[in-house]
Amino acid sequence: MTWFSFAGRVWDRVEKTCLHLPIVLNTVLVFSITAEVSYLVLVEAPLQPDQKKTQWSTVWKTLHLLVQYFMFGNIIWNASLFLKTSPSIQGVFLGSEGMAQGWRFCYTCETHTPPRCSHCYDCKVCVLRRDHHCVFFGQCVGFRNYRYFLSCLLFMWTGSSSSS
Ligand SMILES: [Zn+2]
Ligand SMILES: [Zn+2]
Repeated sequence: MTWFSFAGRVWDRVEKTCLHLPIVLNTVLVFSITAEVSYLVLVEAPLQPDQKKTQWSTVWKTLHLLVQYFMFGNIIWNASLFLKTSPSIQGVFLGSEGMAQGWRFCYTCETHTPPRCSHCYDCKVCVLRRDHHCVFFGQCVGFRNYRYFLSCLLFMWTGSSSSS
C-alpha cells in the first residue's frame, strides 16, 4: 500500500464522518438535554433547602422524568424510522405502467418520474413529493418519510419546551 492510497482512505473516512456529523450532533444534543433534566430532577431538586419536599412534588418530578424519557424514546424511534425509510422513488414505480401527462425523465436516475417529484443532488435520488433536504439528518424529506420527520420535530419541540 502506497502512501497515497493510505491518505485517500483516511480522507474517505473523514468525508464519511463529516457526512454523518449532523446526525451525531443531533443525538448528542437530545442526549444532553435528557441527561440534564434527569440530573436536575434527581440530584439538584431535593437539595434546595427552602423548598419543602412534599409527597406531591416527588410524584410530579417522577412524572416529569417519565414524560421526558417518553419524549426521548419517541425522538430516537422516529429519527431511526426516518433514517431507515428512503424517500427515493426507485423501486416504487416499476415499468412504465400508469404513466400519464406531467411525467418527466430523470437522466441521473435513468427513470421516469411522476409529477411533484424532484431530484436531490445530495441524496442522488429522485424523491416523491420532495419537501426539502434536511441537513440535520442528511436526508431528504419526502412523501414516504414526512410523518416521521414531523413527529420527530414535534417531540423535539415539546421535549425541549417541557424541559426548560
Ligand atoms: Zn433523479
Ligand atoms: Zn436530499
